[in-house]
Amino acid sequence: MSELATKCLIIGSGPAGYTAGIYTSRANLNPILIDGSQPGGQLTTTTEVENFPGYPEGVTGPKMMEDFKAQAERFGLMMLSGEVSSIDFSSRPYMVKVNNGGHVIAADTIIIATGAAAKYLGIDDEQKYLGMGVSACATCDGFFYRKRNVAVVGGGDTACEEALYLAGLASKVYMIVRKDYLRASKYMQQKVSENPNIEVLYNTQTLSLFGTDLLEGAHLVKHKGTDEEYEFDIPVEGFFLAIGHTPNTAFLGGAVELDENGYIKTKGHSTETNLPGVFAAGDVADPVYQQAVSAAGMGCRAALDAERFLIENE
Ligand code: NDP
Repeated sequence: MSELATKCLIIGSGPAGYTAGIYTSRANLNPILIDGSQPGGQLTTTTEVENFPGYPEGVTGPKMMEDFKAQAERFGLMMLSGEVSSIDFSSRPYMVKVNNGGHVIAADTIIIATGAAAKYLGIDDEQKYLGMGVSACATCDGFFYRKRNVAVVGGGDTACEEALYLAGLASKVYMIVRKDYLRASKYMQQKVSENPNIEVLYNTQTLSLFGTDLLEGAHLVKHKGTDEEYEFDIPVEGFFLAIGHTPNTAFLGGAVELDENGYIKTKGHSTETNLPGVFAAGDVADPVYQQAVSAAGMGCRAALDAERFLIENE
């Protein structure tokens, strides 16, 4: 076991975490960043990012996160692999345990930038076929479904993005949308409607999945609870969930105040949480915008808030 100390511990390595790392390194806070279970965050599982300023031709998610990391490393950010298993919030410095390598870190301030994880529908068959047809990441697993039929569940920007990506690989993509409209931005809606490989099934929900060993199809219901209700099957070998995310806060053990959907509550326009010296940035604290660029902006604000806190409290 090794004991380390830092003025600022950053938990998470998405756009918020790395941006906080760049700012706190440049402010000589000698920060340490714990990279978490998915180093680079959710963008490492996306394809093209076209709306992050500074990349006029677009960039892939993994390449963009490599660039974030390289920029943070340039200013000497110390990075540790692993996940935080627990934090003793009873007094400052906060004592943080990291599972990989058994590090214990005494942190004067903490920036939580742990992002969010994909949601599942909660039907039993999802677990049964997980990795054998069911996935929450089209760019990770889409390749396995070349020239097959697949389905994407959800009607938001993520679902449209995943459907468009899969439409380039699969022979047919069904979008299973529970309402009679897509929630996605107009631009994404248009791209979906123009793609001949995508069929949107509105007012439709998933009842179950079937297949002998691997997934072979989904049993769906249309107009559930109305006079027009009817059930039908679609033949699909891939079933991709894109129904939103749950913020990653379980490791906080209830010490940091959350809103009713599990997002960390921050005070006013700041990134302050209910605990002194603990700040939150990115998707874990943002139920509204959830963009790479807004997460990066919040990471910057958290770093400045942490720096100001240290000046006022030392
Ligand atoms: P959203 O919350 O925007 O959309 C979730 C979708 O899943 C909705 O259509 C919702 O239906 C549906 N859904 C939720 N729960 C269920 C369920 N149990 N059964 C069936 N359907 C369900 O999440 P996203 O991940 O798409 O987007 C999150 C944020 O990230 C948004 O702000 C989005 O704009 C942004 N984003 C931006 C991108 C970009 O700019 N390139 C790319 C991807 C995301 P309903 O509408 O009925 O609630």
